[in-house]
Amino acid sequence: MGTNRKDYYAILGVARDATPEDMKKQYRQIALKYHPDRNPGNKDAENKFKEAAEAYEVLRDPEKRRLYDMYGHEGLSSSGFTGFHDFTDIFRSFGDIFEDLFGFGNFGSQEGRPQAGSDLRYDLTLDFMDASLGTEVNIEVPRVVACKTCQGSGAKPGTSKVPCPTCGGRGGITRTQGIFQITTTCTRCGGMREFIAEPCLICQGEGQIREKKKLKVRIPPGVDSGTHLVMAGEGNAGRFGGPPGDLYIIVHVRPHELFRREGYDLHLVAPISFVQASLGARLTVPTLKGTHEIVIPPGTQPGEIIRLRGEGVPYPKGGRQGDLLVEVKVVIPRDLTPKQTELLKELAKEDPAGQTTVLEAPAEEGLLHKLWSTVKNWHNQG
Ligand SMILES: [Zn+2]
Ligand SMILES: [Zn+2]
Repeated sequence: MGTNRKDYYAILGVARDATPEDMKKQYRQIALKYHPDRNPGNKDAENKFKEAAEAYEVLRDPEKRRLYDMYGHEGLSSSGFTGFHDFTDIFRSFGDIFEDLFGFGNFGSQEGRPQAGSDLRYDLTLDFMDASLGTEVNIEVPRVVACKTCQGSGAKPGTSKVPCPTCGGRGGITRTQGIFQITTTCTRCGGMREFIAEPCLICQGEGQIREKKKLKVRIPPGVDSGTHLVMAGEGNAGRFGGPPGDLYIIVHVRPHELFRREGYDLHLVAPISFVQASLGARLTVPTLKGTHEIVIPPGTQPGEIIRLRGEGVPYPKGGRQGDLLVEVKVVIPRDLTPKQTELLKELAKEDPAGQTTVLEAPAEEGLLHKLWSTVKNWHNQG
């Protein structure tokens, strides 16, 4: 674009002695007419837009203008001026002009534009049974909502916002320094363009208040510690028409004194005596929804697991349920009555291992024999 040979004054349609104000006014009109947003895909408009930007860029700068007046395009290129590369370049240089033209500003912050409300977190502790079977709980969530008194405007009911008197409703203050114009965010309205003459007494002009919102939450069955439940739109309110955030309910489950979860299976320890383990027994165990009778077959070993299908935790989406795993724990009595001792001694006579200690060689090969030979070797070494 730097090789453009057209006369810059002609492009802007101004006289050679035009003032900076004249040129700015002309440039704004041309830029408005050929702005790419208004002429999508129009190559001719695009060229005119870029041409005008280049002309204005040179003529608004006293040093470049002087060079151009004296030496023309040659003078500029030998000074290193290359014009603009693309639209971004142009908007970066003339941002303030386009703000005025199109009624938006990049000065200040995002104030005044729709802002989504923030998400909220709520930690919910549940009893084991409620979490496993599902329930409904009432919670109170502190959150930000639009002020009902002023309907979120921040202005006292019956009054309305007025254009900010300090910036004249532009949101920014433009100061002229030499031929430069500097636009800064208006400190009175913070770039909001509007000014609340009489603030709402309830929200002090914020347009938002904090409240505790009561919510009824349905807890599906099968939730566990760490489960996230999302309630869409129940977070903090948005501003300037932005959507509200979401509420994330983080579930914590209190442990149960008998049941332990393993995924959707339940684990339960059932203590039985060694007599029950040896002879077999019937045992009633608790389940999530009641009780269940199980059969301990004769000769059940410690740690054996009896699986009750479908007696575990339901899946949250329904249809399936885990199992209940009953782990048999054989309890050896610590205190025996004389009668029990007598009977056990009788029993011992019938035991194939008898009352053999590991210091005497057991008759059979096997674990006991291995134990015995290890002990014997140790003795021999000592
Ligand atoms: Zn209010
Ligand atoms: Zn202002």
